[in-house]
Amino acid sequence: MTCRERAASPRSDTNRAKSGAIRPPAAAGSGDAIRPTTHVASRTCVGCGRKAAKHELARFVAADSTLTLDPNGQAPGRGAYTCRRAVCFERAVDRRAFSRTLRTNVRVPPGLNPFSEG
Ligand SMILES: [Zn+2]
Repeated sequence: MTCRERAASPRSDTNRAKSGAIRPPAAAGSGDAIRPTTHVASRTCVGCGRKAAKHELARFVAADSTLTLDPNGQAPGRGAYTCRRAVCFERAVDRRAFSRTLRTNVRVPPGLNPFSEG
């Protein structure tokens, strides 16, 4: 009886808007330049330089000049990405890669490393 509201799904609308045009497979060969088949936005780990899908990496932002983990990937401003590995995080800190990437001098709070294992 009250299924009316469920019919509309705003979530799929935003997904579509973000990922751009979704083509059916039949559209291949329409004369476009060859593109990678994946639509996943890729980011580069500032620790090891590996490229990976955005959701595979952890995002960090500068909040009041302090490096902060952005667990949802939705904080405003520039973000720096690392693999979800302690070594990549540490290497990025060593190289001051966060400050370089975020274009501001960020302080890395001791114990921030979210990937260190007990
Ligand atoms: Zn890495």
